[in-house]
Amino acid sequence: MQLYNSLTRKKELFIPLKDKEILMYVCGITPYDTTHLGHAFTYTFFDVLYRYLIHLGYKVTYTQNVTDINDRDKDILKKAHQQHTSWNKLADFWTKKFLEDMKNLNWVMPTNYLKASKQITSMIRIIEALLKNGYAYERESNVFLDIKKVKDFGKLSKLTKEYMLIRAKEFEEDIDNPLKKNKLDITLWRAATPDQPAHIPSFKSPFGKGRPASRRGSPGGRPGWHIECSAMAISSLDEQIDIHGGGIDLIYPHHESEIAQSESATGKTPFAKYWIHTGTVLYKGKKMSKSLGNLVMVSDLLKKFSSDTIRFVLLSHNYSEPWEFREKELTTAQESLNIIKSALKIKSKKNLPLSSENSFKRINESLENNMNTPQALLKIISLANIILKENSFKNVARDQNNLRECLKILGFTI
Ligand SMILES: [Zn+2]
Repeated sequence: MQLYNSLTRKKELFIPLKDKEILMYVCGITPYDTTHLGHAFTYTFFDVLYRYLIHLGYKVTYTQNVTDINDRDKDILKKAHQQHTSWNKLADFWTKKFLEDMKNLNWVMPTNYLKASKQITSMIRIIEALLKNGYAYERESNVFLDIKKVKDFGKLSKLTKEYMLIRAKEFEEDIDNPLKKNKLDITLWRAATPDQPAHIPSFKSPFGKGRPASRRGSPGGRPGWHIECSAMAISSLDEQIDIHGGGIDLIYPHHESEIAQSESATGKTPFAKYWIHTGTVLYKGKKMSKSLGNLVMVSDLLKKFSSDTIRFVLLSHNYSEPWEFREKELTTAQESLNIIKSALKIKSKKNLPLSSENSFKRINESLENNMNTPQALLKIISLANIILKENSFKNVARDQNNLRECLKILGFTI
């Protein structure tokens, strides 16, 4: 199979690190709001990739995380505070909603579905390794990764330091923290402060033991967002993994930082062999985002359309490209699904010669070519039309089975 690797910016032949086993990690949601179509696009694509790799005979271990600890004070923490609830109750509520939406979209649950708040030990372990080998430094119980020590920092995003600063600001990284040696150094552990409000989570840590006698003992704190994913990928999968995925907006700073942290801690390169990124979903001309108020919620669409219809719309767009959602696509998808349903329902006549068409391989060829799902869907519709046309003079049972198999690989329920 050919896959586009964001790390090399090339379409490459997919060769797993171990013969028949694949380790895959996909960055999950920050649970503080409803699942929108942008989330559904990313997670449905990785669901199809997961299904297809299993179909090819690989043993796939797939980890997805839940970022239920914010390292900045926004998102979950801000919203929980506004709603007078705790961060973990809010995160649990929205994680459940997300899983319900994805289950309704017929996704296959990842092998490991990990909450960051339950993986603090593995995060502390990797931060300790980075302190020990000199890549990280401690300042007043905070720990930072020194990016000057990481020789190939920037190899994924290939951004200039100036542009990294702009992006880091957009992501509200604490670039102006006076404790940092360099503005772009990565926050691995953020120490709790004495005046920290009660709604901010704090976990025990070994950092800060060397503080002056008057302030002995660690004040606790919370992990940085990026180290959460490095730790969860390594602890649940391995020090080197085959596929790392996520939305394209995560390339910098999140994925770049994950590479720097993981490779510096383990000494093994590459941390992830293939980096796969999904494109942005737009609505009414702009990126779907909460701040712009142009979100299309999956739960709202599911009230009017079947999961197959929504899945059809999502897969009719190339995973790596940006696209704009338009309502009329749902009706077009419904029409296509009706043709497919008719082709599956039609009674095949056993006494007629078998149809010569064998599209199964051709549909797989589309997936072999960088998971070209839009092309696979076009071939599926064409196969359905052939079945309907040839049924009067050919036995189409074989094609109907092929059609069923292809739909299953793409995760449809019909
Ligand atoms: Zn992540």
